[in-house]
Amino acid sequence: AVRVRFAPSPTGFLHLGGLRTALYNYIFAKKHQGSFILRLEDTDQTRLVPGAAENIEDMLEWAGVNGTYRLLCCLLPHRYDNRCRNLSSVQVAQKLATDPKPAVRFRLEGETPAFQDLVYGWNRHEVASVEGDPVILKSDGFPTYHLACVVDDHHMGISHVLRGSEWLVSTSKHLLLYQALGWRPPHFAHLPLLLNRDGSKLSKRQGDIFLEHFAAAGFLPDALLDIITNCGSGFAENQMGRTLPELITQFDLTRITCHSALLDLEKLPEFNRLHLRRLVSEETQRRQLVGKLQVLVEEAFGSQLQDRHVLDPAYVERIILLRQHHISRLQDLVSPAHSYLWTRPAVGRAQLGAISEKVDVIAERVLGLLEGSDTSLTQDVLNRELKKLSESLEGIKHSHMMKLLRVALSGQLQGPPVAEMMVSLGPKEVRQRIQKVLS
Ligand code: GLU
Repeated sequence: AVRVRFAPSPTGFLHLGGLRTALYNYIFAKKHQGSFILRLEDTDQTRLVPGAAENIEDMLEWAGVNGTYRLLCCLLPHRYDNRCRNLSSVQVAQKLATDPKPAVRFRLEGETPAFQDLVYGWNRHEVASVEGDPVILKSDGFPTYHLACVVDDHHMGISHVLRGSEWLVSTSKHLLLYQALGWRPPHFAHLPLLLNRDGSKLSKRQGDIFLEHFAAAGFLPDALLDIITNCGSGFAENQMGRTLPELITQFDLTRITCHSALLDLEKLPEFNRLHLRRLVSEETQRRQLVGKLQVLVEEAFGSQLQDRHVLDPAYVERIILLRQHHISRLQDLVSPAHSYLWTRPAVGRAQLGAISEKVDVIAERVLGLLEGSDTSLTQDVLNRELKKLSESLEGIKHSHMMKLLRVALSGQLQGPPVAEMMVSLGPKEVRQRIQKVLS
């Protein structure tokens, strides 16, 4: 049975690279009806970051990539001269007398085994000559990553290790440990690096690669999963808009290549728009979006709200439906450009007068047009009626009339089509805003 694990060290918050490793493990497990385990490798007690473990768990849950839980151990070695390799038992006793906290090293002997990585093919790394005998138990009593990872993977019955390609060179060492312990090693599949579009290291240049940042900025988990799989391999074809269940059915481990995945985060809003529109089209999801937008509006405008009716689910839903093609995140609907939807603009008479001298005439005629139209007019009908209206008005250009209406309704010179604004606000609110012009 397939059994995999995502084994981050809680030395930092979860970022896109980690999410990708977790995701590939997860979709591989689900595809083969296997299990996915989250294992926190806290071997390096000196590098633990407070809150990192919780953040990793929370963010995986947010992304919908969750598994079961278990704590353990990571540390990076450097060249050691093997000075204690051949001590006599007397020397050992002397050393222990002066240093009661020894480290335990793993004696590397014999030929380093070659192995077949499922992504990178045949590999062998001469650990003995490059690194010397590695520490496996530190003087603080903790195992190093290498030992912890081998012991845990064995005892957890891990069948496949899918992890970042930076661990490819450690694998020979792990295999020697498996050999020494008399255990059968799992299969290894190392995942190519996730880099910026220009090939630079993800964490170096981009400060904002932490999942928290994307969640707070209103990006959808599905959009993130979609963009990080689209820039890499593992699928017959790349295709925007896939959801987690689709990623699971379409994933194929044998299609992972060793090319780095180049991530273009500028495309994230586009991915998000696609997933947002999908949610809008599903009724239960849409209801949840309505709830989220209500919270965002309340947070952004609170006491300035024109009145509570702008929080009516029906109103909020109408706004989402009308604006979904023009926004990439729900958050965009509380941006200054959209504030007219929730608060009344402060528009001065002079400002309107500068657009057209005929403010009163226009306002009165538009009010006339809206008279008795308590059921909402469609954009098409409004456009036709407004066109007719400006034609019937002596000396008034259509464009001026529309500009005047736009400013009166929104306080802004730019924005959605005037007729769309009128439909969004509804006839009652439009009448009130225009009446204000006259007073
Ligand atoms: N703790 C290691 C890391 O954070 C895990 C390596 C592995 O998956 O074996 O990258």
